[in-house]
Parts: sequence; C-alpha cells; structure tokens
Amino acid sequence: MDEEEVSPDHPRATSLRIRAKLTHGFKIGITSAFGLFAHGRGEAFDYLIGEETTENATRAIRAAAASFLLARHSVLSVNGNVAALVPQELVELSTITASKLEVNLYHRGGAREEAIADVLRKAGAKEILGIGKAASATIPEICSDRRRVDPKGILIADTVFVPLEDGDRTEALVKLGKTVITVDLNPLSRTAQMSTITIVDNVVRAMPLLVKAVKLLENEPEQTLQKIVRTFNNRQNLREAIELINTRLIRLAEQQSDTDEGGD
Ligand code: ATP
Ligand code: MG
Repeated sequence: MDEEEVSPDHPRATSLRIRAKLTHGFKIGITSAFGLFAHGRGEAFDYLIGEETTENATRAIRAAAASFLLARHSVLSVNGNVAALVPQELVELSTITASKLEVNLYHRGGAREEAIADVLRKAGAKEILGIGKAASATIPEICSDRRRVDPKGILIADTVFVPLEDGDRTEALVKLGKTVITVDLNPLSRTAQMSTITIVDNVVRAMPLLVKAVKLLENEPEQTLQKIVRTFNNRQNLREAIELINTRLIRLAEQQSDTDEGGD
C-alpha cells in the first residue's frame, strides 16, 4: 500500500502511513529487510508509550539540541530507516547545526548507499559522507560493516547522532569518547541504555521537534546551553521512561478489569 492509499479514517492511519514510507523505502532499495524488522520492534514500543511525545522525550530533545549547538564537529549518521522516514528533517538539522551527514549501514553495498545519498540530495543535502571508498577508516570492536566510517565524519566527530542504531556500534562510539545522541523507542535497548542522550520517541515525531528546539536555543549563550546539558541526567530520564510505560500499563490493565465487571 502506498502512503496516499491509506484512508484518513482508518483508526491506525498514522502508523500505516509510516509503514508505507518504509515499504516504499524497501522497494526503492534504501531500507533493508532487517530495517523492517527493526521498525516492527519500534512499533511495539510506540504502542506501549501511547504513540505520543512524552515530557520525558521533550526533555531529552532539549538536551540534544543544546549538545548539537555546543558541538565542534557533529555528525548525523544516516541508515536506511531514517532515510525513508525523515530525509527532509535530517537535512534541515544538518544545516542548522552545521553537522555533516554520513551514511552508515549495517549491511553495506554500493547500490543502497547511492540510493540513500540520492534521497538525501533530493531533500537538499549538498555533501554526504561515507559513500563507497570514502568510508575508509575503521572504528574498533564492531563486527559488521558499520565499523567502516568516513575519516572526515564520524571518525573525528565529538558528537554523533545515531537514530535507530544498533547497540554494538553505540557502545563502540561511546568508548571512543564521543557524545552519542539517539532516538530509540525501546528504552531497554542497548543503544538506549548506552547513549549519552536518549530520546525515547518515534523518530517521525522527534525529528521535527528537535529541529524546532535547535531553532529555539540557537541564540542562547554558551553558558545556558551548557547548563541544559549538565542538568540533564540520561539514567534518570531512562528510568522515568520505563516507569511511564509501567504506570500506563497498570492504568490500562485496571480499565480492562472494569470492563470485565461491567460485562457480567
Ligand atoms: P540494540 O542493538 O540497541 O540492543 P535491537 O537489537 O533490539 O537494539 P536494532 O535493530 O539494533 O534493535 O535497533 C533498532 C532500534 O530502533 C530498536 O530499539 C527499535 O525499537 C528502534 N526503532 C525502530 N523504529 C523506530 C522508530 N520509528 N523510531 C524510533 N525508534 C525506532
Ligand atoms: Mg541490535
């Protein structure tokens, strides 16, 4: 089903439209079959969260925006899922934060890298790192193709944005001393647990808000930005994200038993 074919009256229209974006991405060779599985895992957590941006995520978005504005060399790592879901927002974020865009795939292969670069170019990107031989450097302790990075990008970055990332690579980037910012619907994933700043939200909702937050903070003095980063506690925020799911499920379970009683 194409995005336009999703009936606006369908109770799960938003979710279906996101799926359609990904299946389209799969058809045009930017999203991998593994990416579709990853999306399914994300969807399940979105259901638990309530499919809306929580205050908890908003706090992480603000800290992420401040981090981008403080970074000397920030890079946005792009995979097949985010290229299918939020190409415009990625390009806009890269422009307003002076971040480089770098394609970094779990499963590399010339055609897919080129197809992703194409989508980003169509969304307005001028420079895209990590394509083909440009990904000539390697970072240690990762088995997949994701160890290959661009010496002008992730290798020398102080801040790396890795939405929908795999845990191994996040761990490797953190070990290299980089500030790692992620968007991940699963607060229990290794990526969520290991990152410096974890935005527990759907990337489709979080990206426009991140762009907005950067615009809101861009004229703030460095001290204010530093304070925002310093007072953000990722461990505490993750703990709260898990508690929010817990509280929500308890509430939903209680409603369930009310219905049962009424049905007698
Ligand atoms: P990890 O390797 O970090 O332990 P994992 O192996 O469960 O996680 P991966 O496929 O490596 O999963 O990473 C993809 C992550 O992206 C998952 O945690 C998934 O929940 C999350 N995810 C998928 N779709 C979205 C989305 N649209 N927005 C935000 N997060 C998403
Ligand atoms: Mg993984």
